[in-house]
Amino acid sequence: MNPTSKEEQEIIELKARIQALQRLLAKKTEELQFAREDAEAANEAKSIFLSTVSHELRTPLTSIIGFTQLNKKSLDGKVIPAIDENNTKAIKSANRISDNLEVVKSEGERLLNIINDLIDLSNIESGKVEWKIQPVDPNELIERATLAVSSLFEEKPALQLIKKQLPNAPVLAIDRDRMLQVLINLLSNAIKFTEEGQITVSVDHLPFPIISGASRHQKHLVFRVEDTGPGIPDAHIDTIFDRFQQVGDHHTDKPQGTGLGLAICKEIVEHHKGKIWVESEVDKGSIFAFIVPV
Ligand code: ADP
Repeated sequence: MNPTSKEEQEIIELKARIQALQRLLAKKTEELQFAREDAEAANEAKSIFLSTVSHELRTPLTSIIGFTQLNKKSLDGKVIPAIDENNTKAIKSANRISDNLEVVKSEGERLLNIINDLIDLSNIESGKVEWKIQPVDPNELIERATLAVSSLFEEKPALQLIKKQLPNAPVLAIDRDRMLQVLINLLSNAIKFTEEGQITVSVDHLPFPIISGASRHQKHLVFRVEDTGPGIPDAHIDTIFDRFQQVGDHHTDKPQGTGLGLAICKEIVEHHKGKIWVESEVDKGSIFAFIVPV
């Protein structure tokens, strides 16, 4: 075989191999496309299922909570006072029933919060939420959010609130109520998990441009909620914004809340083309931060 025909042979083989690879690639791309369509359909079915079930659950649950409240009110206000005070056994059981009704009510309310959060999340995901973008002063946002959580501080006398506003802050084009929801959620979490020390809420320019060449003064603002609470172990940092992720109380190992708050915050921030993240050190505290484009 002369050298030219050997080279030609190699080229033919190479071409055949390339064609085979191209066919394989086309087949795999098609499979991937089918898999993606299946996944999207499954995701949509899940969202519809969640939303329908949540709505169906909300009505009877609201009525269970309402009737429990009514029963407790008449038990405490009418039935218990009418029991003969010498009948200690009856008073004792009536009080126990009253305590149990309180548990039914608070667990019902907890369940209702989960359902409301689920509906909220599925509405955001399915694009059912109407966003009201308007000019918002970031300092005023911090004022409103801290006002909304001020009563939570009353139960924690060893906890101090620090506010750091930004002089001459630029106006943001955001959905005010939804962004308030994010700040209030982060602040409530910080207060819920921190027993003593400080909760610092701040707004500032981003110390570095995230788009290269962008002026740091104009492109993004960063909001931070910093606490001196139990912190979040490294193993949970990456999944903390996923739905139903609860690390559990550091000391009692008992989760509190719905585990959906941060997932909702993430959806809202990302809808505004922002980013949300957490930095944390166990036993030192956590910093939840999010950036929003100006
Ligand atoms: P939840 O309703 O349980 O607070 P979130 O989605 O808001 O749901 O939070 C998820 C989990 O993240 C919480 O259960 C808690 O384990 C952890 N977490 C959130 N914020 C803090 C914080 N400031 N300090 C420590 N852990 C936190």
